[in-house]
Amino acid sequence: MSITHHPGEELLIAYASGTADEAVSLIVATHIALCPQCRRAVRAAEAAGGVLLEDLKPARISDGALKAVLSRLDSPVATKPPVAKAVTDSNVPEPLRSYIGGSLQAVSWIPVARGLAYRPLFRRGASRAQLVRSAPGAGIAMHTHRGEEFTLVLEGGYGDTTGHYLRGDLQSASAEIEHRPIADEGGYCFSLAVVDAPLSFRSSAIALLAKVMGL
Ligand SMILES: [Zn+2]
Repeated sequence: MSITHHPGEELLIAYASGTADEAVSLIVATHIALCPQCRRAVRAAEAAGGVLLEDLKPARISDGALKAVLSRLDSPVATKPPVAKAVTDSNVPEPLRSYIGGSLQAVSWIPVARGLAYRPLFRRGASRAQLVRSAPGAGIAMHTHRGEEFTLVLEGGYGDTTGHYLRGDLQSASAEIEHRPIADEGGYCFSLAVVDAPLSFRSSAIALLAKVMGL
């Protein structure tokens, strides 16, 4: 398997810092389970975050500064990202496997158009996660999206004007991108699709950076 489309750095940092919401965390964690390169990047980001926290040693800062830091740390923390594990026997890696409870073939699919079916997984506020199954040659998009849309190929593949996507590839599409993905010939294409509120993970990642940098 060769993965050529990866989550952007911003997305990996949002995931590593725990500021990404559950749907975004799920899709990044599932990509990471398939992608050693991004797994290493997330570990590095987590280690860097740990070093930053180590630097905040109480003895080196005044009482007031310590209180300020602690009060910032008390602010609500976003959903903890699920732990990514390497792929084992199933064709669906954790943590996604726990959400669908088995194989992709056993999912109870809801037909929405010719050759196209989906299965909603969950909705949290403005973001939602769903599985999509497309027959060979069928379109895989079923909605217009106002926010950021992420698609992770689980089986099969598809292509659009931006490129070709196979198992493990993650496509990020902002609302401005008009894309009409078409599933490859030769078998069903299964994917995980996440639609996120506009810029929501960005703003929380920036908030976290501001917190760490004491702004
Ligand atoms: Zn990757």
